[in-house]
Amino acid sequence: MYPELEKAASLASAYLDDLDYHPVSQPSTVDELRVRLDHALTDDGVPGVQVLEELARDIDTGLLRTSGGRFFGWVIGGGVPAAIGADWLCSTWDQNAAAYACSPGAAVVEEIAGRWLKEMLGLPATASFSFVTGCQMAHVVCLAAARHHVLSEAGWNVEEDGLFGAPPIRVLVGEHHETLVRALRYLGIGSNAMVRVGCHSDGTIDINALATELDAASGHPTIVSLAAGDLNRGAFDDFEHACEAVHAHGGWVHVDGAFGLWVGASPTHRHLVKGIGNADSWATDAHKWLNVPYENGIGFVARWEAHRAAMRLHADYVIDAGGGRDQLDWNPEWSRRARAVPIYVALRTLGRHGVAHLVERCCRLTAQMVRQLATIPGVEVLTEPIINQALVRFPAPGGASSVDHDRHTESVVEYVQHDGEAWFGPTTWQGMRVMRISVSNWRTSGADVTRAVDAVARAVAALRPRGAPPAPTVETRSSSR
Ligand SMILES: *Cc1c(COP(=O)(O)O)cnc(C)c1O
Repeated sequence: MYPELEKAASLASAYLDDLDYHPVSQPSTVDELRVRLDHALTDDGVPGVQVLEELARDIDTGLLRTSGGRFFGWVIGGGVPAAIGADWLCSTWDQNAAAYACSPGAAVVEEIAGRWLKEMLGLPATASFSFVTGCQMAHVVCLAAARHHVLSEAGWNVEEDGLFGAPPIRVLVGEHHETLVRALRYLGIGSNAMVRVGCHSDGTIDINALATELDAASGHPTIVSLAAGDLNRGAFDDFEHACEAVHAHGGWVHVDGAFGLWVGASPTHRHLVKGIGNADSWATDAHKWLNVPYENGIGFVARWEAHRAAMRLHADYVIDAGGGRDQLDWNPEWSRRARAVPIYVALRTLGRHGVAHLVERCCRLTAQMVRQLATIPGVEVLTEPIINQALVRFPAPGGASSVDHDRHTESVVEYVQHDGEAWFGPTTWQGMRVMRISVSNWRTSGADVTRAVDAVARAVAALRPRGAPPAPTVETRSSSR
């Protein structure tokens, strides 16, 4: 009936079927991609089936196989097939999920998905929520609610009067993601409002240092951002004591749980987020650990009145929903896709146990990978996984300086990337260049982990200078909580 849709389905299936056999990345330069994709734009167009076929062909070497089981860069997640299918339907129905009247079905799906998520993640049943593009925008929504609340406590109406002349807000943070800083920029709070609170050696916020900063900030509108799973180690702040301290000072607790919030779905890992339900707002991603397609982030706010005050929109042509959910009262956008549909489908398909197993399997495989890497001479494990993240580096054989170690680590990472068997990314941690490991895809198997470890071993061996003795096995530093 619709040959374009059939073509898309067959191209998609072929892509997924090929993931296990295909290099994770392929060498192609930006110029090559430009040449391949830059067809002449015609006056009369080209048949859709042909365009789809050529697109899949032309873009292929420019696709990083993040959807496959041997991709361990950043924290990317995969796509469970039912959620990918739901995403297609979502595009097909092409609903504008701006308000109940635009799509009653989309509004009710969103209502239900929000409720399921709160229950699964251990958040208060009365919290409000917002389905946005990602954790970046979830921060914006949550911190807009926070800004409303702390300023209204100080007698200032930020929605009406803006920030000129408002009492300055202080934002206390420990380990944090750069998206948090950008959210503060978007909201006019500014990055200079941030105060770094001391952290323990395991990367978690020092509650005593937090108490000291709270005392110093006494009387100022204060927001504290905590981490549920930081990008490097996956460390969790002490939510219970932090929330207690912040609330005693009348502050707002925000939690960045882009992927870490999902451990709340696992009975064996839930202890890591003890007390997290006492926070005031939470930002997370479904496109990471729930393995639904991009773009899917969620912000939750305990004080729903503050959330609504910050986001609410009134226009004369909005039709009364008669009790249905008008998403534009909770979201920063007006028109938007019905992005809760893939989440609804993923949650129903996986069930509570399915989500728990997804989280637990990723954590187990991260531990397996680190164990296997540790047996390779020339690999130094810097942080043992708490959940699904770990850091290693590759000291230069016979290298004396930290510059040598940094350079060698970068070379090994690049070698593995070019090899195509697996993909890891580099980052800087405590002044060192390191390789970050993240396991967040439902497809990753024990065999994938072994293939990736073998690829690392090959890179280390290939980069050893001829005649040099193997690098000594380095004492493994462990990070205990
Ligand atoms: C990925 C990530 C973000 C940003 O999420 P986006 O979905 O990319 O906007 C924020 N915080 C942490 C800890 C992350 O891992």
